[in-house]
Order: sequence, then structure tokens, then C-alpha cells
Amino acid sequence: MSTKSVLGEVRQVQLAIELIGLGARLQFLEAEVGLSRERLIRLYKELKGVSPPKGLLPFSTDWYMTWLANIHSSMFYNMYQFMLTHAHENGLQALIKSYRLYLDQIESQGGEIVLDFTRAYTMVRFFDSDMLQLSACCRCGGKFVAHAHDSKSGYVCVLCRPPSRAGKARGSKRAGESQEAPSAPESAAFAVESMLGSSGIH
Ligand SMILES: [Zn+2]
Repeated sequence: MSTKSVLGEVRQVQLAIELIGLGARLQFLEAEVGLSRERLIRLYKELKGVSPPKGLLPFSTDWYMTWLANIHSSMFYNMYQFMLTHAHENGLQALIKSYRLYLDQIESQGGEIVLDFTRAYTMVRFFDSDMLQLSACCRCGGKFVAHAHDSKSGYVCVLCRPPSRAGKARGSKRAGESQEAPSAPESAAFAVESMLGSSGIH
């Protein structure tokens, strides 16, 4: 990532603007953009009107397993994989394009953005460091985010086995799996479900 040429520097500034617009945190910008921390902070303040938040939240992989988060995460990660393998994008461009696609899909359905950019790229890192895997649902065939090293045979996804009300009848609970009752309105879930169906993911 050379910033020696003027054109190269302009490209880095454009990349930083795009990433800040998507909601990237300062730590991510420092890792991915070839600009100094001081310039990134100035750019962030100019664009957002506030200083970048301090500290990166250490998200646990468990967040991605809760009902609505799992649906959104799985949809995003399927898009990300598509960008990597079929659109031949590099990791960062695949991340940016698949996240934009995710935002477009949710907004076009009038849904709520559950997966923010920081959670999206943290999830990619969890996959890269072999803490998460995609498991194929034995009922619908869709691929869903799951803990790495969980058994892939007989896996049933969150859409085929939605949580019952009030946390009753939790079904076959596996170690480390957290199941929460959905806090979002059912209409939002329906929007996501129909989207998964229409995009060929589900
Ligand atoms: Zn399923």
C-alpha cells in the first residue's frame, strides 16, 4: 500500500472515505488504509463531525448465533463468499461490496440493519481464524454461520427451527449455543426470510 505517489494517496483517501461512510472503526482504517493515524482521525472528524470512538469492542462469536443476528450474518457471509469466489474480488473489496449489497437488500425490504460494519468484518476475521464455519441446513440446504468444529451433520438452521416464544422448548441445546427469543418484530424477520429465499441463499 504505497502512499508515495499523489495518485496513490488520493486512492487511499477515497478508500478511507468509503470505509468511514460504511461505519468502519479507526482500528480497522489503520490496518487497511495507507494513511497516518492523524490523517485518518482528521478525515473521520471532517466526515462524521465527531471524533472516532475509542476502543474496539471484543465481540464474542456467540453474538452471531442469536436468532436474528444469525440470519443477517449468514446472509452477509454468503454474499461475501460469492464476491470472493465468483466476482474475484480481494478480501477488502469483497468486504466492502458484500456489505453494500447487504445494506441495499435490507433497506429495500424496509428491514433493520442488524449487522453493522464492525460486526461484519469481525465475523470475517472469526472465519479466517477458524472460529466460525458455514454449516448447511439438512432441511433447506441453506448455509448458515455456526461455531467452528460443531458437527455439520444433522444441522438445522434458525429459519427451519425458529425459537419458540418465551424461551420455552429450547429443543436440542448444544454446548456453547446461545438461543435468545427474537427481540425484533416478526415483520422484520419475514422480510429477511423472503430475501434469503429470493437471493438463492436459502
Ligand atoms: Zn434451514
